[in-house]
Amino acid sequence: MLSKVEEIRKSALAACAQARSVKELEQARVQFLGKKGELTQLLRSTGQLPPEERPRFGKLVNEVRDELEAAWVEREQQLFREEEERRLAAEALDITLPGRPIARGSVHPITRVIEETKAIFMHMGYEVVEGPEVEWDYYNFEALNIPPDHPARDMQDTFFITEQLLLRSQTSPVQIRVMENRQPPIRILAPGKVYRADSDITHSPMFHQIEGLVVDRGITFADLKGTLELFARRMFGAKTKIRLRPSYFPFTEPSAEVDVSCIMCGGTGCRVCKDTGWLEILGSGMVDPRVLKGVGYDPREVSGFAFGMGVERIAMLKYGVNDIRLFFENDVRFLRQFGSQGGRLC
Ligand SMILES: [Zn+2]
Repeated sequence: MLSKVEEIRKSALAACAQARSVKELEQARVQFLGKKGELTQLLRSTGQLPPEERPRFGKLVNEVRDELEAAWVEREQQLFREEEERRLAAEALDITLPGRPIARGSVHPITRVIEETKAIFMHMGYEVVEGPEVEWDYYNFEALNIPPDHPARDMQDTFFITEQLLLRSQTSPVQIRVMENRQPPIRILAPGKVYRADSDITHSPMFHQIEGLVVDRGITFADLKGTLELFARRMFGAKTKIRLRPSYFPFTEPSAEVDVSCIMCGGTGCRVCKDTGWLEILGSGMVDPRVLKGVGYDPREVSGFAFGMGVERIAMLKYGVNDIRLFFENDVRFLRQFGSQGGRLC
């Protein structure tokens, strides 16, 4: 019996030393020290011994058990350390590996022009306001002095949703919404998307406009001209000149088209300006007294001017883009070309 104890002790210590993982070690523990393990079984057989030998045998088995348990604890700690080291080695960072480049986006040229325009007018004290893109016929046309039978409606191929509801064909309805809710002085800039059923290399069914409105006592045409001159110089360069040509818009009277000296040739004539030296960039005029009256202002007390421009047109001129559709095709090869010109946005 005593030799049996020694036999178990030896093979248990060998199994303990040979266990290659915590799992294997546990299996070996169950085999020798578990409830049905070899050593436990041996202890149960104490009854088969003559009574005088039982205490010595029991003491010996318990000593061996203590020894084995200590051996297990030690081996377990050793295996934990080894496994931890293996895990750390496997997870080690190779700091010599080059980093993965983070793809950097750039500001869309349309957004860039809108932001630059906003910055220029905000410096002049303008407030930026926005309005709904789905608009009532009343705000898009009627309140702007364009009644249902007015020929000016033909100039704008409008997307109607119902008879009274449409996709706004201009940003001008924002002017009406602001004037209806506030008293002068008003100095606003309204950028946003507008929609017209029109599509070719210079027209897109969705495009952007920026509209400005100033209403106060004593506003004159000279204020309009001075404001637009300052805008043109800040947008296209200090040497830019402007020229006003008489025109017609239903909601301004008098009205003027505004040209800037060609930003490509400086006014000497080139392909872009069709040898005229001038580029048309916006429409403007003094707010028609009927529009002022319509929102409850007294045209004898206050006057104002308004101007509106197509953002795509300005972007095409500024960046030399000849097809408006490029702005909306989301071709990164096109958009990437505007990436390096950042840094001036507010
Ligand atoms: Zn030119």
